[in-house]
Parts: sequence; structure tokens; C-alpha cells
Amino acid sequence: MCAGKTNLLLTEFSPLAAIATTPAAVKILQGLDINDGNIWVPESLREIKGTQVYSYSLKNHIADLWQTHRGFVFCLATGAVVRLIAPLLQRKSTDPAVVVVDESGKFVISLCSGHQGGGDELARLIAAQIGGATPVITGSANGLRLPGVDMLGVPFGWRRGEGNWTQVSGVVARGGKIRVIQEVGSTLWRNNLTDGHPFDFAESTNPQGQILITPYVRALSPGMPTVNWHPRVLWVGIGCERGSSRELIETAIQQVFREYGLAEDAIAGIATIDIKADEVGLVELCRDRNWPLKTFAADVLKTVSVPHPSSVVEREVGTPSVAEAAALRVSRAKTQSRKEEERGLLVPKQIFRSPIPNSRSPIQNPSWKVCSTGGTPAPQLSAKSKIQNYQGAVTVAVAQGEREYIGRDGQILLVGMGPGRLSQMTPAAQMAVTGADAVIGYGLYIDLIAPILRPGQVVEALPITQERQRAQRAIELAQWGLSVAVVSSGDCGIYGMAGLVLEELQGHGWDGKVPSIEVFPGITALQAAAARVGTPLMHDFCAISLSDLLTPWEVIKKRLEAAALGDFVTALYNPRSQTRTQQLGIARDIFLKYRHGNTPVALVRSAYREDEQITLTTLEQLLPESVDMLTTVLIGNQSTRTYGDWMITPRGYLGFGNS
Ligand code: SAH
Repeated sequence: MCAGKTNLLLTEFSPLAAIATTPAAVKILQGLDINDGNIWVPESLREIKGTQVYSYSLKNHIADLWQTHRGFVFCLATGAVVRLIAPLLQRKSTDPAVVVVDESGKFVISLCSGHQGGGDELARLIAAQIGGATPVITGSANGLRLPGVDMLGVPFGWRRGEGNWTQVSGVVARGGKIRVIQEVGSTLWRNNLTDGHPFDFAESTNPQGQILITPYVRALSPGMPTVNWHPRVLWVGIGCERGSSRELIETAIQQVFREYGLAEDAIAGIATIDIKADEVGLVELCRDRNWPLKTFAADVLKTVSVPHPSSVVEREVGTPSVAEAAALRVSRAKTQSRKEEERGLLVPKQIFRSPIPNSRSPIQNPSWKVCSTGGTPAPQLSAKSKIQNYQGAVTVAVAQGEREYIGRDGQILLVGMGPGRLSQMTPAAQMAVTGADAVIGYGLYIDLIAPILRPGQVVEALPITQERQRAQRAIELAQWGLSVAVVSSGDCGIYGMAGLVLEELQGHGWDGKVPSIEVFPGITALQAAAARVGTPLMHDFCAISLSDLLTPWEVIKKRLEAAALGDFVTALYNPRSQTRTQQLGIARDIFLKYRHGNTPVALVRSAYREDEQITLTTLEQLLPESVDMLTTVLIGNQSTRTYGDWMITPRGYLGFGNS
């Protein structure tokens, strides 16, 4: 069984092509999570396994791959790459990400399409994966530690609408003020902006640019560079006759949106009754426009209170409303009162009929017909409407969702960050944190990993006591569609957050697939502590947490007894807190029943952190008062000894001690 996705690089930038022209460059690329089949080399390197040879000129080869690939990683001189890609560049909204790695793996340059193509992110991910490489990102938003104007809505699935994108980004780069008018969508993107950021949410200053976050198509004011972001908050409820054509449905939606000034980019998806799940026109439209099609049974729809119920519809399909009820139901707009209903429903039902035969009640109007049933008056559609040519009849209603639809399956990355120093965190774990949309963890750990956080990430530091809330928050964000890194110190699966998240997911009826899960191991405290004092864990060992918050003290005592009796080297986690002061003394006394008093004991506090303290002592001299919650206590076995400042547990090679 395989759980979750295993490769961040490939999924986000797939298909990805990597190019090397020297053996050293191939080595660098093969160290990355890039499929062998995607590493291209010249004929002269044919012998190197796991690569593909490009048969003619590299220039032609890149041109062939350009349209179909989302990312390119060159391990090649930057100048050469510039010449190769120059003729291929078209638009920053469509060009692939281009990243250049130097042959010694020290620098990873985001060369092209850094924002919309994801080049900056790709460069960061590769730098993290190489381990210790510096991502070279030259966009000004990055220098200012800000999310790009054209990037800030990406984690939430927002779509870029009309706008003077380059000018507004230019205002930010020059330190100007940007007014933000946000009508819909998550405000999480605002929470971690750096001090002195250019965004003004209060409309109090003279802005030089403007960001509108809206489901509407807003006219651009001539004097002020403006961009439109469209969170996908609009759910289109559709009712239609059997056999209604894709074109009729699409045109009806387009006309409604045009008349009501709504942006098609703000469409989250389509909702209807379950008997329409196989309606060919509807299914085709949803597939082509990449809209989810959500269906509901008549029994569900008839419980939704709507402004315009119809007894005719009820007789036919068993619910008095399809379009309005489905739109309201999927958007989860509140419908307790009529007022709330109307707030949720941006467009009450609009009926479009074609005069072509299939229509059940032929309409006399020779070209088209639109009727609105109460509520907002029906828009007057153009008499040249294309609708006349299409088959069927369609009802359209639009409701606004409480939260935008992201359109991606979320994921939870359970990350062990090691004992504290970044260099002790695995490249894969760093990559997971850098790539995530949101990072959740205890405040101290978030501070320790601050250098690898990315501008524009949602970062939520929760107090140490709120593990459950942290797990639930991660699940909530991932179920919505974000990729969420949950950071624990040490290893996330050893007295860390990983287990709690999986347990909570299980409690939420998780199907084991969505959100997907990946666990990134880290160096746990017992390894870190051991490394600082030598080799105390060279023989059988065990870990016991002395915290009785989640485990009954009687159970802990039984395990201490068993570990002592079994002559295990023992690592004590959570040895002592301000309120829990007795347990370590009791543990020491249990071990003294089975081991001699001068058994070596190491007290390692804050291993690999700035305030690290290491004390070597013995079992009988162990003073519980000198230990706190940041300490791991390592108790040797019968053969463990000290030598100078080192603690050694013999493995048995030299014929004495343990075998
Ligand atoms: N998941 C963590 C353990 C969390 S329990 C891990 O795998 O390391 C918290 C306990 O871990 C602390 O009370 C302390 O005993 C130990 N600990 C965590 N980080 C430590 C460090 N840097 N140095 C020493 N002990 C540490």
C-alpha cells in the first residue's frame, strides 16, 4: 500500500525536464527528485545510466519540449540557457519555470517565470533538496519578503482577472502604497505580511495602485493601475431539460454573468440535481472548463428554502427548485431567513429557452427567451443572442459560497525538524516546509525554521499546549485544499504531532487518500543527545516519556521497571516540568535497583540549539533539580562507561562488555 504522494517536485512541476551537458552536472541532477527519464544529456554522455540522449541540437530539443513542460532545470552556464530559451519566451503567464543550477550545486537561480510559472518556488525546492544551496531569486517582491501581487491568491485557487499587473507590481517594487479592496475570499494571505508592507486595507491613504479581490468584473479606473483577483466563490446552479446542449448551457451562464457583472473566473463550479449527473452537455461543459459538477438528490434539494419554488418543477423531479436550491446547497449559504437566502443568492433563477423543437413549451419569440421569476428583474439580453441556435432549456441561478473553492486536493506534510539547528533538518523536510502553502507549529519551532519560510506562506504558531487545535487546524486547511506542513521538533512521529494528526483524521472519517499525507522524519532528541556525548546508544535501547499527562503514571513506572530490568540504555523524554517534579527521582531509584550507582548518565539540554548544555553524571549523583523540559536524560546500561567527556556503550566487537 502506498499512502499519499511522495514527490513534491514532480507533482507540482510535472512534466519537468532537466538538462546537463557534463558528468558533474548529471550528478547534481540525479541527486534531485527528478525522474531519470527526464534528465536529458548529449550523445557524448550516452554511457551515463538513467539519462536520455537528445539526438539533435539542444536548441531544437528545448523548443520541442517547451510547450508541453511546466518546468526546466538546467545545470548549464546561465548565458547558454539565456540563449537557448530567448527565442521561446512568450508571456509570463504561460511560459514554464526555468531554473539554472551551477555545477557545484551552490546556487539555484530562478531565471524565468519566477512568479506565475513557479520558478521561484522551484528554485527554493531544488536548493532545499540539494541541501545548503542558495536559491537566487531576484524579483523585487522576494527582496521585500512579500508575496508577489500576481501570486498572493494562488494558494487559495484565485484566478487573475483583468489588470495592469506589471504596473501594480512596479508600484510595490518602488515602495508605493497599494489599496486593497477585498470583497470575498480568504484574508489569511494578510496575516504574515512583513512590517511596513505596502498594502492598505483601510482606504485611508493616497494609493498609487489598487488590488480588487472580487467576484465582479470591475471597470479599471484610468488614473490608477489596478488588478483584479477573482476568488472562486460563485456556484452556478443549473436546471435543464434532457438533451440541452453544452453550448446553450454555457451561453446561458455567460449571459447571466455578463448581465450581472460577474466574473466567470470567479466560478467555483456547477451544482444540479443528481438525475443530471449524466447530462451530456453539462458534463462536457464542466470537463472543458475544469469546473466540478456537484449533484444533490431531490430529497436534499427540497429541504433548501428558495426564493422561487415551482410546483411544476416539483411535480416533474420531486423538488420545487433545482437551480436555486442546488446553488444555495453547494455554497452552504445560510438559508434560515429570506434575507439570508437573498444574500447567498447573487442571481435568482433565470430561464433560457431555445425555440428549437426539443423545448417542451415552445416559445413564440423567434430568437430567444429569458424569464426571471421574481427577485431581481430579468436582464434584457441581446436580441442577437446565440441562444437561438442551441437545443434545450436551461435555468441558471448563482450563489456565493462562504469560502472560496481552491480546486485542489489538500495535503498534510508531517515534518520533523530535528533538534533545532537548520543544518540538522533533512533536505526533504526543508523542502516540504518551503513548498507548503501553510506552516503550523509551536512558536519556538517556527522561529527556528524562519530562514526557510517563504513570503506569502500562511504561518500559524500555536502555543505548546494546543496540540489538538494545531492538528485540527491543519486538517481543516488541508480539507479546504491547502498543502499544510505541521512542524514538530525532532521526529514528528516520536512524541510529535504526526500521530495526533493521523488519529484526528481517522476520527474525521478520512478515506486514507484525501488529504494526502507524507511524513518527513527528523533527528529525534535521543539521537541528537547521544551524538553530543558520544555513542551511548550502541546497544539495545528504549525511549520512555515521563510525562503522565497522556499516559497513566502506573504504566510509565511499569515500563521503567522493565527497561531497567532488561538492561536497555534508556532515553527519558519530558523528564521534568515546573509542576511535574517527582517522576525523575522515582525513575532514578527504579534504575538503581538494577544498575550500579556509577552507571553513566548524560543530561543533554537543548541539543544543537544556542543554549545547549551537556552534563555527564552517574545514576547515583543524578540531581533531578538540574533537569528541565528541554533536557533528554540518557541512562547507560551495565556496560556503558565514560572516557574523558565521552559516553561509550560497547557493541561487543572487542570481546568484552555486551555481545
Ligand atoms: N518529537 C520530539 C520529542 C518531543 S517531546 C523528538 O523527536 O525529539 C519533548 C521532549 O523531547 C523534551 O522534553 C526533551 O526531553 C526532548 N527534546 C526535544 N528537543 C530536544 C533538544 N534539542 N535537546 C534535548 N532534548 C530535547
